[in-house]
Amino acid sequence: MNMNYSKPTVDGSLRKSILLSQVSELPVFETITFQPILRIDNFERVDGNRVQMMSVSKPYFQVSIVESGETLLPIPQNLFAFETPHPYEVLGAPYKQASPYFLREGVLDALKTAQSYLKQRQPHWQIMIFDAYRPIEVQAFMVNFTYAQVLQEKGWQAETLSAPQKDDAWQEVYELWAPPNLDPKAPPPHSTGAAVDITLFDTQTEEPVFMGSEIDELSARSHPHYFAELASNPRTSPDEKRLAEQAAHNREILYEMMRKAGFQRHLQEWWHFCLGDQMWAWLTQQEQPHLSFKARYGRIEPVGP
Ligand SMILES: [Zn+2]
Repeated sequence: MNMNYSKPTVDGSLRKSILLSQVSELPVFETITFQPILRIDNFERVDGNRVQMMSVSKPYFQVSIVESGETLLPIPQNLFAFETPHPYEVLGAPYKQASPYFLREGVLDALKTAQSYLKQRQPHWQIMIFDAYRPIEVQAFMVNFTYAQVLQEKGWQAETLSAPQKDDAWQEVYELWAPPNLDPKAPPPHSTGAAVDITLFDTQTEEPVFMGSEIDELSARSHPHYFAELASNPRTSPDEKRLAEQAAHNREILYEMMRKAGFQRHLQEWWHFCLGDQMWAWLTQQEQPHLSFKARYGRIEPVGP
């Protein structure tokens, strides 16, 4: 049996109705399917550079996962603002029957709590969803897209790269992107439905709130504290300082309300927040070394027709 669900959009219209097997009714373990051969084919087709990603490790991959079995739920379109059309779909990312606007039930509840904290502080602001659930094929697609982008920025040709250049380029990609790992013990955070990329949206100006840099930008400005440091640098000009203070202040508002709702923020990305996945457990463990934290969300996949 299948259920219909719709992708939320900023204007509230139901842009696309798609089929997904009963994600909200099946226990999560039953919704996870692994098709490694198909997937590796897929990587190589979009990659052309082979699966460099397999050798990449992140410290949070050491954290064990005790799957909670919670379902993925759609993010209600009436409560949040959305970046539409979805930026990765526009690039041709292979979502198939899945949607990026889904989160685990407990994560979605916490996001609603964060939104209510925000309303108390800034009544006209909303959380704006850039990206949430990400199938592993989409992770592979975006990793490869970013690799091509890095080569382009450096003016390098894929065919004539030296081995160190290739390593450099991949290293840059994996500063921000998790490897599209097929190992169930090391899932990309967004493939667990427990990570969300967000910014803030001002419903009065109908513009995103100024954060100083774009989501997914491959630069030092993505670092959460970049603008706070720039603002406190005596060599920063008064004009730059004013803007830097504003960006740092707005990033802080986003961080504070997400933290209060239980989320952790990615160490290198001002926009990435997680709750209950390996990265969350690892970051929480650093803060409370006397306790032991495990992840409760592993990789989840919709199984469809
Ligand atoms: Zn993210």
